[in-house]
Amino acid sequence: MKQDYYEVLGISKGATAAEIKKAYRKKAIEFHPDKNPGDSSAEEMFKKAAEAYEILGNEDKRAKYDRFGHQAFDGGGGFGGGGMNMDDIFSQFGDIFGGGFGGGGFSGFGGGGGQRRVKGSNLRIRVSLTLEEIANGTEKKIKVKRKVQAAGTTYKTCTTCNGSGQVTRITNTILGRMQTASPCNVCGGAGQIIDQKPDDADAQGLKVQEETVSIKIPAGVEDGMQLKVTSKGNDAPGNGIPGDLLVAIEEKPHASLQREGDNLHYDLYISYSEAALGASREIDTVTGKVRIKVEEGVQSGKILRLRGKGISNLNGYGKGDLLVHVNVWTPKTLNKEQREFFEKMASDDNFKPNPEKSDKSFFEKVKDMFS
Ligand code: ZN
Repeated sequence: MKQDYYEVLGISKGATAAEIKKAYRKKAIEFHPDKNPGDSSAEEMFKKAAEAYEILGNEDKRAKYDRFGHQAFDGGGGFGGGGMNMDDIFSQFGDIFGGGFGGGGFSGFGGGGGQRRVKGSNLRIRVSLTLEEIANGTEKKIKVKRKVQAAGTTYKTCTTCNGSGQVTRITNTILGRMQTASPCNVCGGAGQIIDQKPDDADAQGLKVQEETVSIKIPAGVEDGMQLKVTSKGNDAPGNGIPGDLLVAIEEKPHASLQREGDNLHYDLYISYSEAALGASREIDTVTGKVRIKVEEGVQSGKILRLRGKGISNLNGYGKGDLLVHVNVWTPKTLNKEQREFFEKMASDDNFKPNPEKSDKSFFEKVKDMFS
């Protein structure tokens, strides 16, 4: 189980944006690889803190995390939940340390992490799913237009930064010599520039190509969740790494089933006669039609629970149920003969309501449903 992001940063759920930033800054300094060379547990903490800040430091992502937990971001089903790499983390620092990170006693980007690599931009798509697809999980093949390195493009080392992707400047201050590093503005931090490229490629040697991407959707996803398919975003130029494909989940409404978490609800309408005599009816489920029996003498408002006929839980906690709500349909108009029949029954004691203890009230049934 993944550690709670608030715990990672050592803050409460109600922390303000400023408190979150401060807490992250503290952790980043404490566990920075330059301060803990060769210490893999410090590096792990450093990455964890960065991942936590990536989410909690963003209002939208934080709201999503508060609602859905970790699966809101890595899908819980093998969507590259490996967290952030060092490049992502260092690129986040400008925001936290106000640029010029590296002047404050660290040696700058990378440390032991080697050459900084540029990452391609992320792509975003929406995938619309039926309740049936969500219930059981599915695999979608989606056509995506992504930028790829055009055939025939070659790169050479950037002469401005000598391939390091950054330029460092030494300045003398009253505190001593300060070194500041910033991305090279000739190569954009890639360390490489274009040598040759075909005519149809853009300035970075990339061109748009349509590609079919296979996306595994785990069972139990919800509308508004986002899945990540690693490296299926746009390519970066040169030896950079591709961005990610972010997949937003949309749930199509179902004609007769309503979803509530992992449970499903179905409204069954039966006639007076069926309520009195009993009935056998076919209803929709996410795995096809199912025949159910309604006992004679059933009361309106009764809930039949079909165990395991709901949605598979996203975190693997089994399956929800299908709750069938029995509604007895009252005719809105009566002909003369029918009117006479009901008038006769009105004085029949057997037609007078006489609920027993076993005929639970509506509120008790609702209570039962959630127990
Ligand atoms: Zn450069």
